[in-house]
Amino acid sequence: MTLANSAAAPHHKARALKPGSRRPAKELCSECGLCDTYYVHYVKDACAFLNQQVATLEEEAHGRSRNLESEDDLYFGVHQSMTAARKTEPIAGAQWTGIVSSIAIAMLESGKVEGVVCVQNTDEDRFTPKPVIARNREEILAARVNKPTLSPNLSVLELVEQSGLKKLLVIGVGCQIQALRAVEKQLGLEKLYVLGTPCVDNVTREGLQHFLNTTSRSPDTVVHYEFMQDFRVHFKHSDGSEEQVPFFGLKTNQLKDVFAPSCMSCFDYVNSLADLVVGYMGAPFGWQWLVVRNDRGQELMDMVADQLETQPVMSSGDRKAAVQQSIPAYDKGVTLPMWAAKLMGVVIERIGPKGLEYARFSIDSHFTRNYLYVKRNHPEKLADHVPPYAQRIVDRYTLPD
Ligand code: FAD
Ligand code: SF4
Repeated sequence: MTLANSAAAPHHKARALKPGSRRPAKELCSECGLCDTYYVHYVKDACAFLNQQVATLEEEAHGRSRNLESEDDLYFGVHQSMTAARKTEPIAGAQWTGIVSSIAIAMLESGKVEGVVCVQNTDEDRFTPKPVIARNREEILAARVNKPTLSPNLSVLELVEQSGLKKLLVIGVGCQIQALRAVEKQLGLEKLYVLGTPCVDNVTREGLQHFLNTTSRSPDTVVHYEFMQDFRVHFKHSDGSEEQVPFFGLKTNQLKDVFAPSCMSCFDYVNSLADLVVGYMGAPFGWQWLVVRNDRGQELMDMVADQLETQPVMSSGDRKAAVQQSIPAYDKGVTLPMWAAKLMGVVIERIGPKGLEYARFSIDSHFTRNYLYVKRNHPEKLADHVPPYAQRIVDRYTLPD
């Protein structure tokens, strides 16, 4: 069952859209897929880039919105617990150790859900996304590893109603999950589980090629990459070789416009509305970071408890000076010579922020950058689009005009 089967028809409970407004978020559209379905009629309410409503949806999904006086809530959203974990037997070819795919398999094979919305790649290209509703282990495993491009995961949503599925697991990034939460009640489901990943700096397929061409020694053989907690981009190539490029050596001047405008205006890095979030940035190097937001999230994590090695989350270092210094450097597109970038990478890895402090470093850096982007490019949206938690974080830094 794939996206190809998905044909748009008016949804019985939906309001009509004006002709020509098929993707009303225009250049800010993240291609989340909602507008490829008949749920497009809810887009003005549901789209993360037209209607920022994180606090309301947090309340509906988790029973409360985040407490802005708590530092952990402020940064990581509503949660019951955070854990560092990795699979004792990693899944080969997964992005990290395959916790996401393992949870999906366990949910499906236990009968807790009847289908899993996830994203495979097309036969022609390893990085072109192909959203599916997976109905068995093989289809879930075929979706393992990041497709580091904008992906229309929600384009398969109307197949859910058409196929009569009542218990569903959806895997997705923040903008997809916000739109999903907004139409959740229209899907006719008895049970919905939401397994999210953090997401930042996503790109179109063309943008990805530009990034690879600019950054990797062999762009056509890259099968996997990640911006790691050791301040380096790690590439894996099809011949099994690995390549590392320090963040500070990235050709910022050539990459400034590569990220999608949607991602330059996103303030939901940590996927606030998922039941469980599986990322890496709040965990020590080599470990994954699990944020349980509610009881359904705990249920998801419990499904693979016997497959995991765990440790408590940790935090060390102080990010604030590094974030403040990086704001004008990024703004001016400063690129260091490679020897200096490598040296800086070694120093910062030794004394720089680790664990939750690394996650805060990354959140602060992206929120300040994105705030400037929205202020300069969409000033009319600034007040409504920046959530109060993000505003509070941005206000801690001095920004250029
Ligand atoms: P796997 O078992 O390999 O499963 C990966 C799952 O991701 C699959 O189920 C697939 O359906 C889904 N997926 C793949 N591509 C996409 C996509 N484009 N959109 C939606 N779903 C997709 N974590 C951080 O901590 N910090 C980050 O900055 C960060 N950035 C990310 C950016 C992107 C574009 C993506 C997709 C993920 C990002 N993550 C980030 C999450 C992290 O890279 C891993 O995906 C996560 O830790 C799960 O690893 P795993 O081995 O358990 O996943
Ligand atoms: Fe539609 Fe999603 Fe684009 Fe918003 S981000 S306009 S909901 S496809």
